Amino acid sequence: MSAHIPTIMMMLIAASATLALSVGWVARTQDEDGLQSWTAALVLQTVVFVLFSLRNQIPDFFSILLANTALSASYSLFLAAVVRFQQRRLSRLLFWCPPIVLALAFSFLMADIGARIIVAGLVFTTQYLLIFFVLLDRKYRVSGRGKYLLAVGFVIMIGVMSIRTLSVIFALDSIASMLSSTPVQVLTFAMGFVTLILISNGFVLMIKERADERIRLVAMTDRLTGVWNRIRLEEAAQLEIARLERYGRPVSLIMVDLDHFKQINDRFGHVTGDRVLKEFCAVTQSCIRTTDLLGRWGGEEFLILLPDSGFPSAAHLAERIRAAVEQHEFGDGLHVTASLGLAVCRATDTWGSFLERADKAMYQAKTAGRNRVETECPQQDSDQADQPGTSLVQLVWHRAYESGNVQIDSQHQALFEHANSLLKAILDNRPKPEITQQLTALVTEIDRHFHDEEAIFQKAAYPDSEHHCELHANLMQRATRLAGRFEKDQIGVGELFHYLAYELVAQHMLIEDRKFFPSLAA
Ligand code: GH3
Ligand code: MG
Ligand code: MG
Repeated sequence: MSAHIPTIMMMLIAASATLALSVGWVARTQDEDGLQSWTAALVLQTVVFVLFSLRNQIPDFFSILLANTALSASYSLFLAAVVRFQQRRLSRLLFWCPPIVLALAFSFLMADIGARIIVAGLVFTTQYLLIFFVLLDRKYRVSGRGKYLLAVGFVIMIGVMSIRTLSVIFALDSIASMLSSTPVQVLTFAMGFVTLILISNGFVLMIKERADERIRLVAMTDRLTGVWNRIRLEEAAQLEIARLERYGRPVSLIMVDLDHFKQINDRFGHVTGDRVLKEFCAVTQSCIRTTDLLGRWGGEEFLILLPDSGFPSAAHLAERIRAAVEQHEFGDGLHVTASLGLAVCRATDTWGSFLERADKAMYQAKTAGRNRVETECPQQDSDQADQPGTSLVQLVWHRAYESGNVQIDSQHQALFEHANSLLKAILDNRPKPEITQQLTALVTEIDRHFHDEEAIFQKAAYPDSEHHCELHANLMQRATRLAGRFEKDQIGVGELFHYLAYELVAQHMLIEDRKFFPSLAA
C-alpha cells in the first residue's frame, strides 16, 4: 500500500468540511459552549487544505503564506473555543501572536521550505501546548472524558510536529514539496486527519457531558429552595448506609418540619411562605458542614443527612439548627420554629427504616410541643437498656468484619465486647477504680491482640507487614496516652469512644486490617 498525499489532502478537505457543517448546524442557535469558534476553526481548516492541495497551481502567496497563517489562526480558534467552553478569559496576545509571527517569518522564508517547516513546527507546537495546558488547567476543571480525547489529539500533533521539525534539522527526510509523498509528509497529514476527527469528537463530547451533568444536577435539585431533592437524598443515603455496613462509618439523619407553616401561608401569603422556606435553607446550610446534605423532602419538610456523624455530634447539630431557626428573623419581625427528629443509622437499617425512624422522632417532637429535637433511639434503647451492648454509645459487631481467621475474628469480637462494657461502665457512672481497671485491661488486650495478629500475617507472608506493625505501634502509643489522660480526668468518654470506634475499629480494623485478609486466604 502506498500513501498518496493529494488523496489524503482530499480526505482532509472532506472531513473538515463535513465536521464544520455538522458542528455548525448545532452551533447555529447557541454559542455558550464555544461551538461557533470550533466551527469557524473547522471552516478555516477546510480552506487551508484546499489551498495546500492547490500548491503550484495558484500563487505561493496563497498556498504557502496565507494557508499556513490560516492554519495557525484555526488553532487560535480551537483555543478560543476551549476558553469559551471554560468560561474564562485569556490574554488576546495568545490568540493573535502565533499567526502574526508565522506570517511575518514566512514572508521572509518563501524560498526555503526547510526553514518554513521548522518555523511552522515551533509555532504550531506552541499552540498545541497552549491548548493542552488550558484544557487541563485544574482551576477550570472540565468534568468527563471528552477532554482526554482532545488532549490526546494535541499530544499526537506535538509528536508529529517534533518528528517533522527534527527530520528537517537532521536532513532525514527530503521534503522537497508540499505534495511529495515522503514518509514524514504522509505521517503528518494522516495524523492530521486522525486528530481532526479525534479532537472534534472530544469537544462535542465535552459539551454533551457537561449538558448531561447540568441536567443531572437540575433533576436532583429542588426548584424553589435550590437544595437537594428526594432523588439525591435517597441516592446519598443509600451510599452512606453501604459505607456503614462495610466500614462501620456512622451516619445520622435529621428530619425537620416547620411548625404551623400553614398559618404563615394563610396570614402572609404564599410568596412569604416561599421566602421563609428559602431562608430556612440558608440558615440550616450555615449550621452544617459541607459534607452534610440538606434536601427538601416535600412541602415544608426537610432532611439533613450527616455522614460520619454518630449520636453525640448529630444531636448537637440538630439542637444548633433548632436554635438558629428560632432566633432567625424571617423579615418584618416574623419568627418561625421547627421540630426536628434525629435517627442514627443501625447496621440493620434500610433506607426505608432509617427514614421512618427519623420521621417518627419528628412526630414525637411535634406531639411533645414543637420547636424541639427528639431522637428515636432513646426510647428503643431504653427498652433494651439492660441487655448488654445496646447502650447508645456502643460498637456493633457485624459479620462483614470477619477475616476468616478464627483467632483474629474471635479476638476482634472480644475487643468489641470489652470496649462496649467499658463504655457502659463509664456511662453508668461506675466507680473510677473499676473503670480504670477495665481500661487498663482493654489496653493490655489490644496489645496482646496486635502481637498475635502480627505473628499471623507475618506467617502468611503479608507483603506490607512492616507498615502494619508500625500502625499497631502508633495505635498502642495512642491507647497508652489516652488511658493516662483518662485517669487524670483530662478527657471524657467522647474522646475515648472516638479512639475505640473511629481510630481502632473504623480506620484500623475495617480498612487497614482488610488489606491483609487476602494474604490469609492465600
Ligand atoms: P405542623 O406544625 O403540624 O407541621 O403544622 P403545619 O401547618 O406546618 O403542617 P401542615 O402539614 O398542616 O401544613 C403544611 C403547609 O405547608 C401546607 C402547605 O400550604 C404549605 N406548603 C407546602 N409546600 C409549600 C410551598 O412550596 N410553598 C408554600 N408557600 N407553602 C407550602
Ligand atoms: Mg409543618
Ligand atoms: Mg408537614
